[in-house]
Amino acid sequence: MPRIQQLNSHVVNKIAAGEVIERPASVVKELLENSVDALASRIEVDVAEGGSELIRIVDDGEGIHPEDLLLAVTSHATSKIRSAEDLFSVHTLGFRGEALASIAEVSRFRLRSRTADASEAWELEVNGGVASTPRACGGPVGTLIEVSQLFANTPVRRKFLKTVSTEVGHITEQFTRIALANPRLHMVLRHNQRVIHELPATERLLERLELIYGPEVTQSLIPVESELDGIRVWGFVAHPNQSKSTAKGQCLFLNGRWVTDRSLQHALLEAYRGLLMVGRYPVTFLFLEMPADQVDVNVHPTKAEVRFRDSQKLYRQMLSTVRSKFLSLGLNLDTSLRLGDEPSSASPADRLPPMSAIRQLSFSPASTNWSGDRAPFRPYPALPTPTPLPPLPVGEGRGEGALSGATHPHANPLPEGDGTRQPQSANAPSSGRAIQIHDSYLVVETDEGMTVIDQHALHERIMYEHLRERVLAGRVESQRMLLPEPVELSAVEAGLVVEQRETLAQLGLSVDEFGGNTVLVTSVPVMLSKASIVQLVRDIAERLATPGQNVTRRDLLDELLHMMSCKAAIKAGDRLTPEEIDSLLAQRHLIQDAHHCPHGRPTALTMSRLELDRQFGRLG
Ligand code: ADP
Ligand code: MG
Repeated sequence: MPRIQQLNSHVVNKIAAGEVIERPASVVKELLENSVDALASRIEVDVAEGGSELIRIVDDGEGIHPEDLLLAVTSHATSKIRSAEDLFSVHTLGFRGEALASIAEVSRFRLRSRTADASEAWELEVNGGVASTPRACGGPVGTLIEVSQLFANTPVRRKFLKTVSTEVGHITEQFTRIALANPRLHMVLRHNQRVIHELPATERLLERLELIYGPEVTQSLIPVESELDGIRVWGFVAHPNQSKSTAKGQCLFLNGRWVTDRSLQHALLEAYRGLLMVGRYPVTFLFLEMPADQVDVNVHPTKAEVRFRDSQKLYRQMLSTVRSKFLSLGLNLDTSLRLGDEPSSASPADRLPPMSAIRQLSFSPASTNWSGDRAPFRPYPALPTPTPLPPLPVGEGRGEGALSGATHPHANPLPEGDGTRQPQSANAPSSGRAIQIHDSYLVVETDEGMTVIDQHALHERIMYEHLRERVLAGRVESQRMLLPEPVELSAVEAGLVVEQRETLAQLGLSVDEFGGNTVLVTSVPVMLSKASIVQLVRDIAERLATPGQNVTRRDLLDELLHMMSCKAAIKAGDRLTPEEIDSLLAQRHLIQDAHHCPHGRPTALTMSRLELDRQFGRLG
């Protein structure tokens, strides 16, 4: 029978490292947090080769007392708490006393530090967990930590590292979080000696946001603030037109610490209800300030998740803070997407009805009860006026190969009709069998009764089939751009997009590395207009960056096909010509009642003649 043994400190540290130090970015996070805790006013981060070769962080903080140098790299040694009670009044980012020991265990580690009252700095090295004797050396007040050859002695971990650009992306993300939580800190991040971020100290969060995210995002930000029983919520929420395809745009800080919280993310989604399309997420930068005893931060090794004492109350506060701001701006369900300062180039999503209206149309084909309170014809008052924003003129803004097939014959995915169909006039149903209503739906008489088709959903489906066929055949029409289009992404995203170049090329989308967080789009699929390219690349990037989406290449391709088809398709709000309606309807077998578009909405509703008769009391 195996006997129980106490693990030695190296094993213990390696286990701890396994929890906290997942990748170079985790090192950067821990070291940055230590510098913040040490009250630094300036922090410089240098990284080489995605952090696997070198991570060096220099701060001008209070430094470590020479006699504590060895303790600093010993596990469970910390200057930040003394007793278990202190756990409930943590005012620092760190308190577990594990980070340096863990990092030093899995790297070549050098620590040099000098306190303000010392005449010289002291330095020590740790190699594979074995520390050298500290020695005096020159150096300014503050702390320098160098981590090289990360995971060299844990080959499995090292093997799991992704490409340099991906790792830099994660590092940038961690850096950005600390930078947003501490605008007064001057912070610099360099990779392979190239500056990624140089953020001068500022009193204004907005200034920092602009340096990191650019003017487009910052100009859309709406300030919010509230205080309830000592709990303060403040920050900025972006106009709905800045939505994202993942929840990653929601930055939440609790007492200076970046955290993620499902319940509060949900509160934000609720606050944006009716203002965002299904599947879109808001962009927010929110700060929570509350007494330390209102929250337990010791529930997660990296402290990214916390436990609130009264999370329901917080949920309500968050929701009402944001919601009431929207209401005060007139940004509510009825006037949604029509803020006074609506940017002139409304994105396609802006022209779709609010989510609430879409919801009311959700309708299960199984229960064909149109007289209930979900009757599809009566809830229209819940929609904004039929065309809240002017629809795009036909042809413009739609990709070649959309419905304007005449000008681009080879790209037209729509057949010319099956020959048996009579030309129909959209708005004169008497002669034909279909009308377009609200510039969004096609109402069609069928042998069995009638069908209402979501024009966008149908066209999206057609585009999807068309594109898929071409992709499989390896002949997507792609067009070289005269001027390559730069698309600015987050560092993580840029890395991922470049990694997926081949898959994207299969779809007719060529991207090149451009440097920084920018990628260059050099060729685009003919079916997509240039206008939608930037958004498409951003959506793709967000999708790639969504954790837990380690799908197969095939899944990815399919998902990208859906994205592109959605972008290429006509939108709700687009007025169609009779020819276009014909052309669309010729393919309507592609969507059946039961078919749902990828956003989960039905694409067509059917009502039988029998049901009509019944509803009108024509049946005994
Ligand atoms: P923790 O931050 O949880 O206390 P760490 O292992 O990260 O644990 O750090 C151990 C100790 O080393 C800290 O408590 C702190 O006293 C000291 N220390 C680490 N980094 C710095 C720094 N940059 N400046 C000053 N002191 C530091
Ligand atoms: Mg720490």
